[in-house]
Amino acid sequence: MSALRKPARSALDLIGATPVVELTRFDTGPCRLFVKLESANPGGSIKDRVALSMISAAEADGRLKPGGILIEATAGNTGLGLAQVGLPKGYKVILVVPDKMSREKIAHLRALGTDVRLTRSDVGKGHPAYYQDMAERLADELGAFYVNQFANPANPAAHETTTAPEIHAQLDGDVDAVVVGVGSGGTLSGIGRYFKRVSPKTEMVLADPEGSVLAPLVNTGKLIEAGSWAVEGIGEDFVPPNCDLSLVSSAYTVTDAESFAAARELLSKEGILAGSSSGTLLAAALKYCRAQTVPKRVVTLVCDTGAKYLSKVYDDGWLAEQGLADRPLHGNLSDLVI
Ligand code: PMP
Repeated sequence: MSALRKPARSALDLIGATPVVELTRFDTGPCRLFVKLESANPGGSIKDRVALSMISAAEADGRLKPGGILIEATAGNTGLGLAQVGLPKGYKVILVVPDKMSREKIAHLRALGTDVRLTRSDVGKGHPAYYQDMAERLADELGAFYVNQFANPANPAAHETTTAPEIHAQLDGDVDAVVVGVGSGGTLSGIGRYFKRVSPKTEMVLADPEGSVLAPLVNTGKLIEAGSWAVEGIGEDFVPPNCDLSLVSSAYTVTDAESFAAARELLSKEGILAGSSSGTLLAAALKYCRAQTVPKRVVTLVCDTGAKYLSKVYDDGWLAEQGLADRPLHGNLSDLVI
């Protein structure tokens, strides 16, 4: 049993201080691999920390006034965090979400009482239906606060001041590598800045879905044309202002099939129910670990809980439809009438 916490006065007081667990049932070559369970945050993802930090910063400098409207472009998790923190304070929350995101996340957002505007997932920056352009336009029209996790400095700051020092302390100050993905770049830049200052030996390793421009840019210096991928929350078709790629020492491209298989293996081997982006991070972390010739202490993140993806990553029928099944189909859940 780990140490018990005293009762909290609010679920928001439970954000952060997430547990770390060592993965002992995977082949990690000469390395030890640890995962930090950001899924243990009350909103079920790493984005709770960021939502709290961006709302507090905007209140402090007057960008957000009592009764104000928050607008964000989000794969879902930032929206959940913003709703959890913002709605009880009396703000209205409008979220622009690409339509590839899981039904569970959208249902959760609606249940919280946010105004969810779905938009196309198949268009890039500059297209009027692109989720970030749409959110910015809407914020202009409504005179609302556009949170903009892609450029808001309070996003990486949350990781620099909370996630990274926690990792450092939980690993007794001895961390050789941290494997992260990039959606907005907040996790990479915040954790990377902290370790550069406090533990310069620590390498930042990028895990990137196939189709994203980021890993190819790190590895070849060339900006490729973006493709598409099914993993949610990470991978980009541009380099967000919050994404400091100079902090990255190596980068791995991971396919959807590898990501989903890794997430499912994490559940079957270690009993950890993680989302699709965590599968990408784990697959890259395993590649990194197995490529080492000397023992290293490597940390990666469970960015969100797999409960948000039961109809996708963990549904054999959905995987088979995508041509990504890693085992024979035993009954198709999508045919179930509940
Ligand atoms: N995983 C998931 C599931 C996410 O929703 C996000 C954020 N979009 C990330 C990882 C990436 O984090 P960041 O925005 O800090 O780069």
